[in-house]
Amino acid sequence: MILDKFRLDGKVAIVTGSDTGLGQGFSKAFVEAGAKVLGVSNMPSTATQEMLGKENFEFIQADLSTLDPIENIIKTAVDTFGHIDILVNNAGVIKREDTIDFSVESWDLVMNVNLRTLFFLSQACAKQYVKQGTGGKIISVASMLSYQGGIRVPSYTASKSGVKGITMTMANEWASKGINVNAIAPGYMATNNTKALRADADRSEAILDRIPAGRWGTPDDIMGAAIFLASSASDYVNGFTLAVDGGWLGR
Ligand code: NAD
Repeated sequence: MILDKFRLDGKVAIVTGSDTGLGQGFSKAFVEAGAKVLGVSNMPSTATQEMLGKENFEFIQADLSTLDPIENIIKTAVDTFGHIDILVNNAGVIKREDTIDFSVESWDLVMNVNLRTLFFLSQACAKQYVKQGTGGKIISVASMLSYQGGIRVPSYTASKSGVKGITMTMANEWASKGINVNAIAPGYMATNNTKALRADADRSEAILDRIPAGRWGTPDDIMGAAIFLASSASDYVNGFTLAVDGGWLGR
């Protein structure tokens, strides 16, 4: 039955940035579809665990601006749930400064969390999938700024354009190993990431005017795409970045 292909019963997912926003949404959607989730954030994912139950959701608190936590993330997922089937690279950070004065610190932090750790965590998961002999899914969270330049966010744009690019590179090399690497590019979503934009009346109005759907997105809006890309329904989808944006890119 076609709907059975979307179920995640018996699957194990790692979701980064699981304490809030989209990462909390991915965790909830995966548990509802039948999976167990290991969350990783630099803040404790206590609220997500309370929502989903300890038997379904465990978490690690770790700073993903360095590569140090990667080994422990893989080990904890395997020790806790037995194997890994899905990785969602969702943790991300944004720094807004005029580009002419943009600091090295804001460049390095954003590139490290959004791109460097994303790549090496994906690589570690891919190695685990090969070791298991199972294949698996890797979903990264890209952005409208994987396609556009943005304003006052050069490191964010560089990192998210990079996410879209390396999603294709990883897919090219790993599709033959049964690993599906894809990305989701959310439009403008009402989370902490866009708090400053939504608080700025002029910017908020300009953004809303340009969204054909006429509203900010919510974590729930992303979850159909997430379940599709995490499930066997997408077994022949490789290297694609799927926009879930209320029509923004079409304008
Ligand atoms: P958010 O700020 O609420 O969530 C960011 C998450 O990343 C949090 O869970 C945070 O703990 C985690 N994180 C940040 N720095 C970290 C670090 N050093 N170590 C470990 N974890 C860290 O915002 P969100 O909107 O839920 O963002 C989730 C993803 O979606 C991000 O990659 C963001 O760039 C992307 N995104 C968001 C939007 C939007 O409009 N909200 C649009 C496009 C892409």
